[in-house]
Amino acid sequence: MIPAKEATCTEPSLTEGKKCSTCGKILEPQEEADPALGHQMKSVTDKEATCGVDGRRHEECEVCGYKNAEEKIPATGEHKYGAYKVTRDATALTNGIKVRSCSVCGNQESASIAKLNPIIKLNTTSITLKVKQSTTKVTVSGLAKGDRVAFWKSSNTKIVTVSNTGKITAQKKTGSAVLTVTLKSGKKAIVKVKVQKTDVKTKKISGLSKNITLKAKKKVTLKPVLSPITSVQKITYKTSNKAIATVSNKGVITAKKPGKVKITVQAGTKKFVVTVTVKK
Ligand SMILES: [Zn+2]
Ligand SMILES: [Zn+2]
Ligand SMILES: [Zn+2]
Repeated sequence: MIPAKEATCTEPSLTEGKKCSTCGKILEPQEEADPALGHQMKSVTDKEATCGVDGRRHEECEVCGYKNAEEKIPATGEHKYGAYKVTRDATALTNGIKVRSCSVCGNQESASIAKLNPIIKLNTTSITLKVKQSTTKVTVSGLAKGDRVAFWKSSNTKIVTVSNTGKITAQKKTGSAVLTVTLKSGKKAIVKVKVQKTDVKTKKISGLSKNITLKAKKKVTLKPVLSPITSVQKITYKTSNKAIATVSNKGVITAKKPGKVKITVQAGTKKFVVTVTVKK
């Protein structure tokens, strides 16, 4: 007897046959019954693709283990980037650079950081000067990182000149002119200048306290600020009672004995009174 055979992936089932047990002669041949089953293929990943590196896969039969040729799984191209790190700060003059890297494949990607917006601040927009008077009181501030003053220019050098460091000098002629300060970034600002024959009059005295309390024998120095900033009128100081407190022509108050005293600070026609209380 020849036993029947189940169908496999590649071969059909066979019926039972018969042969001579002595000489082996087929007496009743086996016959094909059901056709071959075919492979039960499933996909197997040998290596996952990453963002930067191809993977590999193949198909194999779950029943007999037959394998197809390997094929490639293309790289995903989707990197897992961390946060950007700044490698060069942006300034008012140059772009910055930031870089991030993929935590899987290490691929680096850089991007540009926009230049900083230029900024310029002047402490005044207009000044008055007496003929031949110079001032360095016009100041530029607030510049963005990397920026600096490139040059100053006068619209009329017969009236006023300006150095590259911002020293402004009135000439012999009276009149008006405009100074332009230009930064390296190209940002500009202007100051109007009026030149007159007479001294620039003080309009306000500030920077002082109205009331000061001092212990006897202590000193304090007054630091008045005149407005406009180009006023250079002489500042004088006067005490109402030298026995209680004195004041020097440099503004140094010396407390003498307990009591109250008025210190008058004067520039031109403007006055500021500081009341000093001297305690034991
Ligand atoms: Zn036989
Ligand atoms: Zn198979
Ligand atoms: Zn990657």
